[in-house]
Amino acid sequence: MQLQPTASHFINGEYVEDTSGTPIDIIYPATGAVIGRVYAATPAIVDQALASAEAGQRVWAKMSGRERGRVLTRAAMIMRERNHELSVLETHDTGKPYQETVAVDATSGADALEYFGGLAGSLTGEHIPLGEDWVYTVREPLGVCVGIGAWNYPTQIACWKGAPALACGNAMVFKPSETTPICALKVAEILHEAGLPAGVYNVVQGMGEVGAALVRDPRVAKVSLTGSVPTGKKVYAAAASEMKYVTMELGGKSPLVIFDDADVENAVGGAILGNFYSSGQVCSNGTRVFVQRGIKETFLTRLAERLKDAVIGDPLDEATSFGPMVSEAQMNIVLGYMDKGVEEGARLVAGGNRLDRDGFYLEPTVFADVRDDMTIAREEIFGPVMSVLDFESEEEVIVRANATEFGLSAGVFTKDLSRGHRVIGQLQAGSCFINSYNDAPVEAPFGGVKMSGVGRENSKEAIKNFSQVKSVYVRMGDVESPF
Ligand code: NDP
Repeated sequence: MQLQPTASHFINGEYVEDTSGTPIDIIYPATGAVIGRVYAATPAIVDQALASAEAGQRVWAKMSGRERGRVLTRAAMIMRERNHELSVLETHDTGKPYQETVAVDATSGADALEYFGGLAGSLTGEHIPLGEDWVYTVREPLGVCVGIGAWNYPTQIACWKGAPALACGNAMVFKPSETTPICALKVAEILHEAGLPAGVYNVVQGMGEVGAALVRDPRVAKVSLTGSVPTGKKVYAAAASEMKYVTMELGGKSPLVIFDDADVENAVGGAILGNFYSSGQVCSNGTRVFVQRGIKETFLTRLAERLKDAVIGDPLDEATSFGPMVSEAQMNIVLGYMDKGVEEGARLVAGGNRLDRDGFYLEPTVFADVRDDMTIAREEIFGPVMSVLDFESEEEVIVRANATEFGLSAGVFTKDLSRGHRVIGQLQAGSCFINSYNDAPVEAPFGGVKMSGVGRENSKEAIKNFSQVKSVYVRMGDVESPF
C-alpha cells in the first residue's frame, strides 16, 4: 500500500486533484519533517463532492439494508487485513506510537463498519394498530451528511461517522482536520474497493472554511462534528439556522474519582490510560484525578514509579509507548498550560518540559495539590498533563466533579460496587466507567452532556442520529368530514 495519498480528495469513487487550492503540508510529528502535501478544496471541489454525494445517495438508498451491510462488512475485513499498513499511516498522520495505532485505530474503524454493517439489514419501522386503521413507520435516511473530524483519531473518526451514516442509506462528505489529512482518504478507498457505489463516501481537504461551506450548503441534511467546543458552537448555530440535524462530539475536562478503597494498581493504570494514552490527546480523558486523602501518597508514589516505564521515542518502534504531540502548535498550547500550572502554585511532581530532540515531544506531566479554581483544572489542555486533586468525602467530590461546563466522561475507582454505581449515577457525563477508563467499544453509546456535545456516536443510538422516522396513517374505511 502506498504511504501517501495519490491526490488530495476522493470524490465520486476516485481520487481527484486540484492544485489551485491552498497547499497543506503533511508534517510527521516525530521529526517535524514535511512528508507530503495536499490542497484545500476550492468551491468547485466542494460543489463536485456534494453533487456526487447527492447522486450516490439516490443509488445507495435504493439498495436493501442487507446489501448495504455487505459492503460495510467487506470494508471491515479489508481494513483488518491491512491493519499494519493503515497503522503505519495513522502513525505518520498523528505521531501516535505504532503500539497504539495497531491496536485501536483501523481496528476500531473496522469494528464500526462491521457493527453497522450487521445492523443495516435489520433497520425497520413499526406497525401501530388503531382498531381497523393503522399507522406504520419507516426509518428513512436523512440524505447527504457531512462529517468533520478532529486530528487525534483520523481513521476512527472517519469510520465512526461514515459507518452508521452509510448503514442508514445516507451519503457522506467527510472533511478531515487539516493537521491529519491522510487516513480518511484510505477509508474512502477501501469502502469503494468493497463495492460502495461511487459518490456515497467522499473526502475533501481543507481548513475550517471548507467545513463551514459544507455545513451551509442546502444539499446537506446533517452535520456530525468531532472538535472543540468553540467550533461546535459555530457549526451547531450554522446548522440550526437551516434546521439541519447535528451530532456534536466536543471537548471535556472529565473527573476520575479514586476512593481510598480502590485497587491502587488499577487506579494508577486507569489514570495513566486516561491522561497519557495518545500523549493525552483524547477528548474523554480523565484529566481531573480526584484522589481521596487516605490513598493520595500511595497513589502518587506508584504513579511516579510507573511513569518511569514509559518508553518515549520513535513512534514506529514497537517498544515506544509514548509519542510526540500532533503538531508544533498543539505542543506550544500544552507547554503554556504547564507553565500556568507552576505559576498558579500547583506542585509539579513529574515532567513539565519539552524533550530535547526533534519532533514535538513533551514529558508526561503530573501536577499534585491542584485546586478547583486553577486554570489547569478548568480548561481542556488536550495534552499529557494530569491534575491530581485531593478530596475527603463522597458528597464533596460529586459536587466538585460536576462543577464544570463539560460533561463528556467520568470514572470511579472503588471496591465498593454500591458506591461505584451511586457516584456514577450522580456524575453529569455521557460516557462513564467503573473501575476502568476510556474503553470505547462500538456497541456502547459515546458522547457527552452539557457543553461536551449533542447526540451519540456508536451503538444503536447512532442509527437514531442518522435516520428520520416517517409515519403513515392508513384508513380502511370512509373519510368522515364535517362538510
Ligand atoms: P477544532 O474544533 O479546531 O476542529 C475540528 C474540525 O472542525 C477540524 O476539521 C476543523 O478544521 C473544523 N472546523 C474549524 N472551524 C470550522 C467551522 N467554522 N465550520 C466547520 N468546520 C470547522 O478541533 P481540533 O481539530 O483542534 O481537535 C481538538 C478538539 O476536538 C479538542 O477540543 C477535543 O476535545 C475535541 N475532540 C472531541 C472528541 C469527542 O468525541 N468528543 C474526540 C476528539 C477530539 P481545521 O482544523 O482543519 O481548520
